[in-house]
Amino acid sequence: MNPADFHNILAMLEPLLVVRCDGVVSFANERAVELFGPIEGRELELPNDSTLVVPGLGRAQVTRSVVSWQGEEAELVVLRSLPEQRSRPGPRGAPEPGRRLVPMETALRALDARAHKSTALLVVDLDRFHVINAVLGYRTGDELLRQVGLRLASSLRATDLVSRRGEDEFLVVLSARDPGPTEKESERRRRRDPRVEASAVAERVLECLVAPFEIDGSEVYVQASMGIALVHPELDPQLTLKCAESALYRAKELGRTRFEFYTGDLLREKSERLALENRLRQALRRGEFFLAYQPILELESRRTVGVEALIRWQSPDRGLTSPALFIPMAEENGLIVPIGDWVLQESFAQAARWHAQGLRLVVACNVSVAQFMHPDFLKRLRTLLDQHRLPPGTVEIEITETAIMRAGVETDRILAGLEELGLKVAIDDFGVGHSSLSRLKSLRSHLLKLDSSFVFGLPEDHKDASIAAAVIDLAHNLGMESLAEGIENEAQFECLRELGCRYGQGYHFGKPGRPEEVERHFPRQSPI
Ligand code: C2E
Ligand code: CA
Ligand code: CA
Repeated sequence: MNPADFHNILAMLEPLLVVRCDGVVSFANERAVELFGPIEGRELELPNDSTLVVPGLGRAQVTRSVVSWQGEEAELVVLRSLPEQRSRPGPRGAPEPGRRLVPMETALRALDARAHKSTALLVVDLDRFHVINAVLGYRTGDELLRQVGLRLASSLRATDLVSRRGEDEFLVVLSARDPGPTEKESERRRRRDPRVEASAVAERVLECLVAPFEIDGSEVYVQASMGIALVHPELDPQLTLKCAESALYRAKELGRTRFEFYTGDLLREKSERLALENRLRQALRRGEFFLAYQPILELESRRTVGVEALIRWQSPDRGLTSPALFIPMAEENGLIVPIGDWVLQESFAQAARWHAQGLRLVVACNVSVAQFMHPDFLKRLRTLLDQHRLPPGTVEIEITETAIMRAGVETDRILAGLEELGLKVAIDDFGVGHSSLSRLKSLRSHLLKLDSSFVFGLPEDHKDASIAAAVIDLAHNLGMESLAEGIENEAQFECLRELGCRYGQGYHFGKPGRPEEVERHFPRQSPI
């Protein structure tokens, strides 16, 4: 356990001392120091009785046990105040009968501001709960959570909802407050501000957790951090939850046992995203996409043997937008199918133009999982191959390791179909996704593309070097070729060449460029 966490749990417990054989106190937790002062390193004289009256604690039961402390035998002394003479307040706010937690779905449904009069969502997270679980055991942890939930519920108004979420989180949905008949207008206006109302509730939650919880005769202390998001009619419950979570992270970062409001502008982000999506929908029609081609080299000979087609979006108002931004968006909203189809048409047409010019090169096209699994995918490829009269081996399909796994049982059928069409398949971004090696063995693919993240640290980083070597060997042993992406300098190139990597691409050889820019990399042969 992390020493800081251990210290925290000790602070939460009852007064506790570790006394060495010579009677010197080797350790005292915070509550023991409160009672006895700075006692560590001093001798403590406690009568050997099983109950004692300790000033500041009252009548206490003394438990002694032998422990190993810093390699030596020592005595662990725990003082537990006996209920009838407590000098500290006992658990307060005993749960009202009838106050119950609601299921999470109910709480989330209530966040729909149009249907319900909810004003704010609080995510309450117990600080360092895992430490309590680890030290006091899961049973105590569970009982504690049960009691915390009930105490939260009883400290709030009957119209507010409390729900347990995940292991140690609670959701609190605040409802709009009806003003009392005697409330002044100014007070009413102030109260109606959901921020003021939510702050007041958050204070109340922090306060209601101050008193210890009693579990199996022991007192356990908890503290909580909270993130608050105000409900907005334009935000759906899941987004509101996200906002409250992000506020919770901030509260934790700022030192825990506090609450924070979500201050970002998810609404603005959401409307910007919608605007971008709308522009993306029009981009195809407006002809704003083009393809950039990056050279692929055979490392041993340094000969350029092919290119990878990479999509670019140049819009008049936004300028150039990275595919790393708009491809995932297109994958989410389904636009990837028409956009991906445009990429195939355009790259096949370019491959045909190069072929007609006598350039012998392979054009690799990236394909997303939605395209790969589309019922017309193979048919469409056949049409394009026929239309452009491309000989086998002129185009290649790249599909990521993750997409292959997502395609599941369909994968083998589609890969067999691609092979029948004479199209080679590369597994892209290999090493960053999740695939099983036994699955890889049965895949009909021709090339493994080692992800650039393992090339970056070469040649110095031994871990990267081991992974690169392993992937290259794996590819060759499974009868595939190997290709390393993202080669940016001569040292990386040399290292990969020595590791036996067959092909490579990266800024060191050439950035993705317009067709005319990459043509100079290729020896021209007589047109056919
Ligand atoms: P990817 O398929 O892994 O493509 C390689 C990316 O690495 C490209 O980024 C390329 O420009 C970049 N790159 C190449 N050499 C270097 C280098 O030496 N150093 C560094 N730092 N980067 C290098 P790009 O063009 O921004 O594409 C990003 C991703 O977008 C691609 O990753 C691919 O997943 C996706 N993508 C691009 N075009 C298409 C497409 O037509 N269809 C689909 N489905 N996805 C595409
Ligand atoms: Ca790729
Ligand atoms: Ca890649």
